[in-house]
Amino acid sequence: MSGSVGILRYPSETTSTAYISVGSNLGDRLRNCCDGVSALCADDAVRLVARSPFYETEPVDYLDQGWFLNAALKVQTTLAPEALLDRLQAVQHARGRTAAGVRFGPRTLDLDIIFYDHLVLQTPRLILPHPRMHKRRFVLQPICDIDGSVMHPTLGRTVASILNQLVEEGQTLRPCSFDC
Ligand code: AMP
Repeated sequence: MSGSVGILRYPSETTSTAYISVGSNLGDRLRNCCDGVSALCADDAVRLVARSPFYETEPVDYLDQGWFLNAALKVQTTLAPEALLDRLQAVQHARGRTAAGVRFGPRTLDLDIIFYDHLVLQTPRLILPHPRMHKRRFVLQPICDIDGSVMHPTLGRTVASILNQLVEEGQTLRPCSFDC
């Protein structure tokens, strides 16, 4: 009966494409982001395909905090969605991120899954696509830098189109001169 067990398991040889948002506004922001990306892509389970440039970005939602450093990644991964989230959370934890603190408040490292193939998912731990990505310039602009033609699976629009029609105020982005 190993065949039926194999059907139920997520096949390890399946490779998916995911877009991941990276951010930090505490401590050495660039080091947090760059070391976080290296740790995330330290083995064959998550392979870095592309990384956007970094931007300094004005905080949103919780405004009484320093500006963030943000970028986006395109990765190929053999990890299933929740296993990828586990890895993101382990990397965040290793960079000193704690569960304590204000929602949307300061953080040493923030890693979010924005897209995982064209998957639409809602579990207690994981929502895909990321539920706030379409309102956030600091997510949309770096993904557009990698590939503006990526299609949002429920809005049915490309990230470039969503970015172009974004009307939210107070989301200044400044391109950075520094990089990993
Ligand atoms: P945040 O403080 O914005 O990093 O949110 C972290 C929480 O969001 C964690 O409890 C995750 O389980 C949950 N979460 C839901 N969907 C996602 C997603 N697409 N990527 C990352 N975290 C997510």
